[in-house]
Amino acid sequence: MTDKKPSFAIIGAGIGGLTLAACLKRVGIDAPIYEQAAAFGRVGAGLQFSPNAMKVMRGIGLEGKMREIGYDPEIFRSRQWDTAEVTNQFRKKGVCDEKYGAPYLMFHRADVHATLFAAIPDTVIHYGKKLVGLDQGAKGVTLSFADGSRVTVDAVIGADGVHSVVREALLGPDNPRYTGRVGFRATFPTALLNGAEIDENSKWWGPDRHIVHYFTNPRRDEVYFVTATPDPDFKIESWSMEGDLKELRAAYEGFHPQIQRLLAACPAVHKWALVQHDPLSHWTDGRVALLGDACHTMPPWMAQGAASSIEDAAVLSRCLDDVPLDGIETAFKRYEATRKDRTTKIQTVSVSNTFQRESGTDPDWVYGYDAWTTPLASV
Ligand SMILES: Cc1cc2nc3c(=O)[nH]c(=O)nc-3n(C[C@H](O)[C@H](O)[C@H](O)COP(=O)(O)OP(=O)(O)OC[C@H]3O[C@@H](n4cnc5c(N)ncnc54)[C@H](O)[C@@H]3O)c2cc1C
Repeated sequence: MTDKKPSFAIIGAGIGGLTLAACLKRVGIDAPIYEQAAAFGRVGAGLQFSPNAMKVMRGIGLEGKMREIGYDPEIFRSRQWDTAEVTNQFRKKGVCDEKYGAPYLMFHRADVHATLFAAIPDTVIHYGKKLVGLDQGAKGVTLSFADGSRVTVDAVIGADGVHSVVREALLGPDNPRYTGRVGFRATFPTALLNGAEIDENSKWWGPDRHIVHYFTNPRRDEVYFVTATPDPDFKIESWSMEGDLKELRAAYEGFHPQIQRLLAACPAVHKWALVQHDPLSHWTDGRVALLGDACHTMPPWMAQGAASSIEDAAVLSRCLDDVPLDGIETAFKRYEATRKDRTTKIQTVSVSNTFQRESGTDPDWVYGYDAWTTPLASV
């Protein structure tokens, strides 16, 4: 046992890393974040926060702001791609608050990032710090960055996403696999629909492809859609690559007129490869742990990737609360043991792409989870 207050570092200022910094702050831990990007731009994409994610936002003081900036839809519908037949519907507004204790909100991704940034001091994030190496030794964990700088801390959390360098340091090289599907995605002004009616939040299920759309703010003046579209030979994961609107529209020919109207109004689109990963054998090693996509990469078909990262952050902060240096290893193991079964199930259901498709789907196990109160595993 030692009295030294341990030092931590987080790799990656994505949704998981930022939420973790805010959750750790809550238990008195100031952890710097090292982020490879020089700055963040406004990536055009939507993001859904189900009640399980929103409960964590409440715990870090962001629920009010999230309610201000998010769209709170009445109802989600699963529809047949061509006939618009409703195969499942799920009432969200009010019902989620009542049943799960928090709302189900939809956002522009950049608004979520901005809100999370505001929850942590500016000095916490070190930009332009691409991690290239990690060594665990007697004196701590030494991080090496592409700019030649090095930092040694007592413990590290890798929230560095799908192609995690921290994961590679723990488990060796093992890249996520391409799902064979691309996502076309766009955010654009609702005004471009010229008054054409669309659902507020639906997923249209075709035989081998789907499209999801929703509004991204309470004004309903911006709409977002994202697809999963077969394209076996495409491998580019870049979030900034432009897609071809003609190719997109051709891929959704035959879909219901609502979708034709949506795609006809869309002025520009991005396209990127959707990947998946099998559950990992372990997430922690000594005083290094993984969080978020770094340890449970999944395709976005259940809208639970960010939510899972956010849950990880809350649980990890509980495990580290008041833990001395020599307790970190056990705390990391407790975190992994508390989280792994759940994220493995979410990964598996995400890959199967069946969640909420048919009436009778049970969403309670997903949305009812509370990362602040779920029992911590004993290790
Ligand atoms: C189209 C799409 C839609 C989605 N929709 C939803 C949704 O509606 N709801 C939901 O819950 N989830 C959704 N997801 C999933 C969600 O976006 C991810 O699961 C989530 O962003 C993961 O967060 P993260 O912090 O683990 O990783 P990321 O957000 O990927 O963040 C990783 C960060 O680490 C940084 N980084 C990477 N490597 C290094 C390095 N070597 N050194 C330093 N920094 C590094 C990156 O620059 C990045 O900032 C969606 C995903 C996609 C692709």
